Amino acid sequence: MSEPMITPGVPDTLELRLELIQACRYLSELGFCIGTWGNLSIRVEQGILITPSRIDYSTMTPDDLVVVSWENEQIKGYRVPSSELLLHQAILRTRPDFGALVHTHSPYASTLACAHKPLPVCVEDMAQIIGGTVNCAPYVPNGRHADLAQAAASAIGSQTWAVLLANHGPLVGGRSLAEAVVAARVLEKAAQIYIQSQSIGGPQIIPDEHVIEERHRLLYKYGQEQLSQMK
Ligand code: 13P
Ligand code: ZN
Repeated sequence: MSEPMITPGVPDTLELRLELIQACRYLSELGFCIGTWGNLSIRVEQGILITPSRIDYSTMTPDDLVVVSWENEQIKGYRVPSSELLLHQAILRTRPDFGALVHTHSPYASTLACAHKPLPVCVEDMAQIIGGTVNCAPYVPNGRHADLAQAAASAIGSQTWAVLLANHGPLVGGRSLAEAVVAARVLEKAAQIYIQSQSIGGPQIIPDEHVIEERHRLLYKYGQEQLSQMK
C-alpha cells in the first residue's frame, strides 16, 4: 500500500487571497455561483482560509477573507466565515490530499444532486482529474451544518476529488486552488455529458481499472512523459 498523499498548508499571503477572490469571480462568470452562493477555501499554515458568508464576490477584498484554526478559533478577519465552514473543515480533515475546496451551485452537477444520483466516470478528463464515481451524500436540510459536514465526509471516500450534496450542489477538491477550479469545471462538463447522453441510450461507463490507470497518470506522469516513454 502506498502512503496517503498529504498536501501541507501554504502561507496565507496577499497573492493567495487575491487568487481566491479571482477564482470566486471566475466561477461566478461561468454561472457556477449566483449572487453570494458557493464558497471556497484553502488549507493554510494556521488552518483554513475561507470566504466570508453572504459577501458579494464582485466587491470582496482580501480583508474580507477569514482564517479559522483547526481548533475552530477565528484567528484572522472580522467577517462571519462561510456558513459551510464545518463542511470545508470536515472534508479537509478527512482528505489530507486536498489543499483547496470549491463549493458551487453549478447547474448540471446540481441536477444530479437534486435527483440524488451519483455521477459515474463516463469521460476521459473526469477519469483523470476527478478519479472515480462521484457519490451523492444524503439530503440534509439547510442550516444543519454539522450533519451536512458528516454526510459529505462519509460520502466522498478516499480517492475521488468531488462529492454531491443532495438538493444543493457539488463540493470539489484539489491539491491546489487552481486544480480544484479545473476539477469543478471538469465535473460540471461530465455531469452535462452524462445527463445529455441519457437521450441517446446513456453513456458507456469507463471500466474501473482504466479509471485507476488514467488517474495515476494525471497525478504522477501527465506532462512529464518523454517521447521515448510514450507507447
Ligand atoms: P455562504 O455565503 O455562507 O458561504 O453560503 C453560500 C452557500 O453556498 C449556501 O449554500
Ligand atoms: Zn451552497
